[in-house]
Amino acid sequence: MTTEGLSIRPLRCGVLRSDAAGFVEGMAGDLDLQVWAFVVHHPGGTVLFDTGMHPDVRDDARGHLGGVADLFRIEYTEDDDVHARLVGVGVDPTTIDRVVCSHLHFDHAGGTSLVGDARIVVQRREWEHARDEEGSGYAHADWDTGQDLELVDGEHDLFGDGRVVCLPTFGHTPGHQSLLVRLDTGDVLLTADACYLRASLEAMALPAFGWDLDRQRAVLRDFARREATGTTLVFGHDPVLPALLGEHGP
Ligand SMILES: [Zn+2]
Repeated sequence: MTTEGLSIRPLRCGVLRSDAAGFVEGMAGDLDLQVWAFVVHHPGGTVLFDTGMHPDVRDDARGHLGGVADLFRIEYTEDDDVHARLVGVGVDPTTIDRVVCSHLHFDHAGGTSLVGDARIVVQRREWEHARDEEGSGYAHADWDTGQDLELVDGEHDLFGDGRVVCLPTFGHTPGHQSLLVRLDTGDVLLTADACYLRASLEAMALPAFGWDLDRQRAVLRDFARREATGTTLVFGHDPVLPALLGEHGP
């Protein structure tokens, strides 16, 4: 979707299959969690929101993730990493200025070193939390890459014009953030793991885990309010994207 130089392009970066009930309370059977990254072009620069998984996950998920790997059947081909996906849609990875990490879990920050020229933008409280964690979804090799780092506190306007804004959505993790993109045609909110699926929002169904379930619930209520007033929500792991994002490849 493009409006006056501002655009959002989704990239498919693999699939995590798991037991649905762990991710959406009350849901039966297996669930395919689509791993997404998004390129946001702004006249002032190009941003990548989330980076998918680390290449090591492909060959040795347990070595990279520890016991968390056992929760998933991971589909992650060489075509699925964020570098390959960027090239596939005609974006030179060296032109990415900033990687905005929703949070530092392995399926959101794992491909950060594949866009090694970019500065990492993450909430300070997420960085400080992840620093003390290994396992439980965090792997230092994902994000402790030596790239330039910009730690932000709360709401953060990336270009100073209010059109691409990090919104704190703490709850899933201590420093989770979502990304608000104000296209001319309306506001789009990339929720990341503050809301996995449309079904999560419709049922107000939380995952079985999380840093603060009450905060997660409050964030879901805020998302429902935003949607009711015209914001288009793009859910963190939903296989279906809103039509306004257009075609998004294989
Ligand atoms: Zn996730």
